Amino acid sequence: MTPNNLPRFNRLSAANTTPKTKQAGTYKEFDATELYCPRCKRPVPVRKRLLLVLPEGDKYIYLCAFCLETVGTKIDRYVKPVSVII
Ligand SMILES: [Zn+2]
Repeated sequence: MTPNNLPRFNRLSAANTTPKTKQAGTYKEFDATELYCPRCKRPVPVRKRLLLVLPEGDKYIYLCAFCLETVGTKIDRYVKPVSVII
């Protein structure tokens, strides 16, 4: 039995988890969408804005970050289980 090996092993595994949390921190570009703006005539970063709350989901509009032109819409549908009633 060499008890000195145990703390050493723990330090190694702690060092291994550090880059993992760093990677998770950079994973925040989920909503960073670029859409084509007809006014700017190029793909632009957009701002997502909640427009309407509908029974089937929330309706969002995407606005050009530069000229605020509406470049797209999207409905985030509520996920509901598919049920077939016979
Ligand atoms: Zn624009």
